[in-house]
Amino acid sequence: MKYADLHIHTTASDGILDPREVVAWAKKISLTAISITDHDTTCGLNDAIDEGDRIGLEIIPGIELGTYANDYEIHILGYFIDYNQPQFQKELELLRVERNSRAQKMILKLKDIYGINLDMDYLKSIAGNAAISRPHIGRALIELGIVTDLHEAFDIYIGNKCPAYVPRSTLSPKEGIELIEEYGGIPILAHPGLIGNMDIVEQIIQMGIEGIEVFYPQHTAHQVGTLIDICHRNQLLMTGGSDFHDEFINNIPAIGKQKLPYTYVEFLKKSRKS
Ligand code: AMP
Ligand code: MN
Ligand code: MN
Ligand code: MN
Repeated sequence: MKYADLHIHTTASDGILDPREVVAWAKKISLTAISITDHDTTCGLNDAIDEGDRIGLEIIPGIELGTYANDYEIHILGYFIDYNQPQFQKELELLRVERNSRAQKMILKLKDIYGINLDMDYLKSIAGNAAISRPHIGRALIELGIVTDLHEAFDIYIGNKCPAYVPRSTLSPKEGIELIEEYGGIPILAHPGLIGNMDIVEQIIQMGIEGIEVFYPQHTAHQVGTLIDICHRNQLLMTGGSDFHDEFINNIPAIGKQKLPYTYVEFLKKSRKS
């Protein structure tokens, strides 16, 4: 059987392996195809594709856009976008600028509420070339000895319901879907089980999503069943992936933790517009 993992982060956003390392590991664990889906950036794609060509692994260009509807965080995956278009890159740059100014606001809250001293330069040294995401802030809190791991950072300081959390002022789900479609990509609703309200799925379908990330490590068997049913009824594509960032099991990165039979990749490819 051929398998794929269509949801992977790299150091281009908040993952800890660089794109070439991700590709090398995916090959080592015998996947046939992967997609790199960094948050609000395609900066890791060219290295991944180059490495994939070199060692023989299919790379599907992807992205994950963070959008908000009311208080819900809705993530939209985009596959096969014509990402080299300069206007698309300009749009992404705006999203990354907003990320950095939101990080600045979180730095102020951490200072005001807890007396924690973080500065932007320190965060940038952790994030490297990536725009700042909360895991970078979490890693800074670990390095400072304030928390022992990312879960503690999210539980106490930076999770969605925590005092130092600042929501992003960014795209709505509809704008995210439209942005992906405008540049020839296929918009897929990411991990609906994490939204915290499955009723929203129907609303996102009305907005023109083309598929749903059904297969996802944190989805329960019941959620998977419900989502498969929704996809059948609405003729939507089904995808899946590990959402790998930094998890290792026995010193091996948990890439492919969610394996997707390659047949689903073939369906996705048939929906390509370009
Ligand atoms: P941001 O996009 O800056 O709001 O950060 C969100 C990112 O934080 C997600 O993409 C995950 O990688 C990570 N994340 C969210 N919740 C948690 C959690 N409870 N524990 C660890 N990482 C999390
Ligand atoms: Mn992330
Ligand atoms: Mn996500
Ligand atoms: Mn993700």
